[in-house]
Amino acid sequence: MTTPTSTRSAAVIGAGQTGVTAALGLLDAGFEVTLYSDRDQRALRDDVPATGTALEFGETQQAEAALGLDTYTARAPRHTGLSVRIAGPQREELIQFDGHFEGYAGVAVDTRLKADERLTAFRERGGRFVVEQITPESLDAIAAAADLTLVATGRGGLSDLFPVDESRSPYTAPQRSLLTVTVTGLGHDESVFAHRSRAGGAHSGFSILADQGEGWWGPYLHKDAGPSWAFLGWARPGSEWEKRFGTADSAESALRVVRDLYRDHIDWDLPEVLAAEVIADDPHSWLKGAVRPVVRAGAGHTAGGHPVASLGDTSAAYDPIAGQGAQSGLIQAQRLVAAAAVHDGPFDAEWITRQYQAFLAARGDAANRVTRLFLGDPEFADIGGNLFAAAAVDPRFASALVGLLHRPAPFQRVDSLDTAGQFITEVTGEDAAALLASFEPAGRFSRSTFTGSLTATT
Ligand SMILES: Cc1cc2nc3c(=O)[nH]c(=O)nc-3n(C[C@H](O)[C@H](O)[C@H](O)COP(=O)(O)OP(=O)(O)OC[C@H]3O[C@@H](n4cnc5c(N)ncnc54)[C@H](O)[C@@H]3O)c2cc1C
Repeated sequence: MTTPTSTRSAAVIGAGQTGVTAALGLLDAGFEVTLYSDRDQRALRDDVPATGTALEFGETQQAEAALGLDTYTARAPRHTGLSVRIAGPQREELIQFDGHFEGYAGVAVDTRLKADERLTAFRERGGRFVVEQITPESLDAIAAAADLTLVATGRGGLSDLFPVDESRSPYTAPQRSLLTVTVTGLGHDESVFAHRSRAGGAHSGFSILADQGEGWWGPYLHKDAGPSWAFLGWARPGSEWEKRFGTADSAESALRVVRDLYRDHIDWDLPEVLAAEVIADDPHSWLKGAVRPVVRAGAGHTAGGHPVASLGDTSAAYDPIAGQGAQSGLIQAQRLVAAAAVHDGPFDAEWITRQYQAFLAARGDAANRVTRLFLGDPEFADIGGNLFAAAAVDPRFASALVGLLHRPAPFQRVDSLDTAGQFITEVTGEDAAALLASFEPAGRFSRSTFTGSLTATT
């Protein structure tokens, strides 16, 4: 006769893409899982904007594949590289490069679609879905009853249960104001953004204006419209762009702001931007706001002393400039599920903290540093200057630099101009100083001559 083994129970709070991914992973690992959400499934899909663009790359897709989940690489338009242009404070057109993603592709999938599809699978496989806004008080009872409790309520929600890790959180305020809008009207073939890359619409396009902020366009999979494009803009505090972003109050006005921005400041990409059209059926296809980059503790305690684990944006909020937030949360979810599946003992604060430290060492700390590099943090200004110049000179280094968005770990050991030089030399085989000496300002970026727009399909 076999002895019945008791099933362990898990509670997951928050049904954003990170919480749902962890809930489904734990269910498939044999846990009895209850997922709590302040919104029902339809509202999660249709009544809110996507939390962010959620562009993710190979390392994150591997984590999703390890959980047996769809990575969307067969359904979403693929990013095969990133084209970068940098203009100086006087609008000098300084740096341009087109970095190819070597051995992986990026996909940006509507977080509402991903959460919805994974939630459907979770419910079909026997997961319990409870629609309830969880409070610190109700969390206490939930954590008392479950063997393992994960809190994935995003940046707000219950995040105050997890103290801010000051040593990992150097910013006291957001570093940018953000504006994003998802659009149709543009295809993904070679004719789109052809002035930036021979890959055309398979590469996303990033423009950095030293005095104002940054603008990015990339292929996207929208929950209803399917293959589409996302714009994401960053405005420096106090900049003129920040005022413009503040005026957006609908998808239409957001797109108007973006068109005017490109007309006045980033004319090299203007024809594509003018071809873009709002997604009329989705009033939530835009978003504005700001994120203060913050890292919190991995373990928290409820009032009754029960340990709970932070997950996703509840653990760490990233400025999206290096696309690390969704990636971090999904990798963290996969690691937690894998560790929980083979753990025999209690899921106490010590276990939770150990998992979190391992996650920070493997991904989180490097993701934060790469975010600070792309934010132009003064600590990395000189290093960044050399790395971006090296990318302009050598396509191999351009690939390595944009590869940090996929796997930020190589940047962990770059902490001086010397180690930046070593990084350049390791990738290119060239002496870094000699390579940098051959850098010349771009002079004038080529301008788009795009004339097509996507013909409406029936
Ligand atoms: C403009 C922008 C662009 C971005 N671009 C990228 C990118 O390109 N790449 C990338 O990797 N990341 C990006 N990110 C970050 C990424 O979008 C987020 O990290 C990710 O979507 C967070 O998912 P989450 O599930 O952790 O949190 P959320 O999506 O915030 O989900 C939390 C859920 O919990 C629910 N909830 C809250 N409180 C409670 C409660 N008390 N009880 C029950 N439920 C509750 C909420 O309603 C929500 O459904 C971007 C972010 C922004 C803002």
